[in-house]
Amino acid sequence: TTSILWFRRDLRLGDHPALAEAGRAADRVLALYVLDPRLLGPSGAPRRTFLYRCLRELNDQLDGRLLVLRGDPIDVVARVVREFGADSVHVSADAGPYGRERDALVEKAIDVDFVRTGSPYAITPGRVLKGDGTPFKVFTPFYRAWTEHGWRGPARTSASTVDWVDPSRMDGVAIPDDEDLGGMEIPAAGEDAARKAWREFRKVRAEYAEHRDRPDLPGTSRISPYLRWGCVHPRTLLADLGPDDEAYRRELAFRDFYADVLWHRPESARKNYDRKFDALPHDSGEKADELFEAWCAGKTGFPIVDAGMRQLLAEGWMHNRVRMIVASFLAKDLHLWWRRGATHFMRYLVDGDLASNQHGWQWTAGSGTDASPYFRVFNPITQGEKFDPNGDYVRRYVPELREVAGKRVHQPWKLDGGVPAGYPAPIVDHAEERLEALRRYDIVKGT
Ligand code: FAD
Repeated sequence: TTSILWFRRDLRLGDHPALAEAGRAADRVLALYVLDPRLLGPSGAPRRTFLYRCLRELNDQLDGRLLVLRGDPIDVVARVVREFGADSVHVSADAGPYGRERDALVEKAIDVDFVRTGSPYAITPGRVLKGDGTPFKVFTPFYRAWTEHGWRGPARTSASTVDWVDPSRMDGVAIPDDEDLGGMEIPAAGEDAARKAWREFRKVRAEYAEHRDRPDLPGTSRISPYLRWGCVHPRTLLADLGPDDEAYRRELAFRDFYADVLWHRPESARKNYDRKFDALPHDSGEKADELFEAWCAGKTGFPIVDAGMRQLLAEGWMHNRVRMIVASFLAKDLHLWWRRGATHFMRYLVDGDLASNQHGWQWTAGSGTDASPYFRVFNPITQGEKFDPNGDYVRRYVPELREVAGKRVHQPWKLDGGVPAGYPAPIVDHAEERLEALRRYDIVKGT
């Protein structure tokens, strides 16, 4: 007998519950990946390239026995089932709106069992509920209930857990080549690289709570691209944490929380979670487009904002504190709709994830679950001075400011010689735009 393990956001062999289940269900397992144009299109070159590299790593781990096909999974999976006479198809459950719908259609299109085992989360979205059976809308009580609910230990799986089918009787497609990233350096891909990132983080883990907000320090785990693609399961990480790692556990819970929100409210990927914010006026037109372009390019004249936007372009990743600062700047200083910024992020982030990104943006813009209140407007200067106290982060990504010593780098317009050559003057007046943001907030409050 043969079962199919259809890989999606679980590109690993360790701690893989669906792999264990596929092995229990049949004598042999066929490893399948489907390149789905509907998902690849909006992904952006950095994330696609990271995916292709993950697939190459996975294929190597499987001694070349990963069958890769391209097309609509509804047709492709059904064809593979027929071709190999498979008795079941196994997946890690997908919690996103597109994935859920696609899986329901695939399930209908095949006449064998479609088995969902586990998910990319510590606790499968939809399972942590309030006492009255309704979903949580606020993180802290979710976190309490999530902790009480608990999760299984890691599944013990590896390449040798099952007997892999040689897929060569079907013509697969080659894993696509890397795309041109124009000098961007994205993290190493695959399960080994994920393990390595975790080993590195263990060295600085004791300082995580203290350093996690400091973009100038290597204070966070940088594990997000690996969690995004399932090169590591969060339970593997949770099993390795101790009682002193509360701050880190909380962040992993945040990832579960946003997936849970998206599960219950799939439309919140596109619309304001808090529909009152539909009344908030946004700027558009030529001037707004110009400001948006300056933001995208990291040329706003606000050093911490520019450093963040350029880190995104240089690495396909941005530090969490700086994601909040640049998002606040787009929403509250430039008065643009959060989705414009979110779409730019999704084009460049290697860890770009619909649940964490759209809800991270909505949190900052004020329209999300227990969001930062709209009237709390981040000051990009004091944020810079507080979280990049020596200016090292800014100097790393903004070469025009490299000669400016210390934290003076956060206010280049105050330098004796004026703003250094090549660096823009601030594109807006923060104090004025803050007041404008508050005026607009009054409109929302009045609805
Ligand atoms: P660490 O601090 O080491 O945290 C460990 C893990 O916990 C992360 O890898 C991540 O999986 C999870 N986590 C941490 N903070 C958050 C958070 N605020 N929300 C959800 N999960 C979190 N994260 C993404 O994975 N993909 C995104 O597309 C994404 N977009 C974001 C957009 C905005 C506007 C904001 C404010 C945040 C966004 N985040 C996103 C959350 C967060 O910025 C990243 O997860 C984090 O920076 C990844 O770095 P790390 O692995 O070093 O984090």
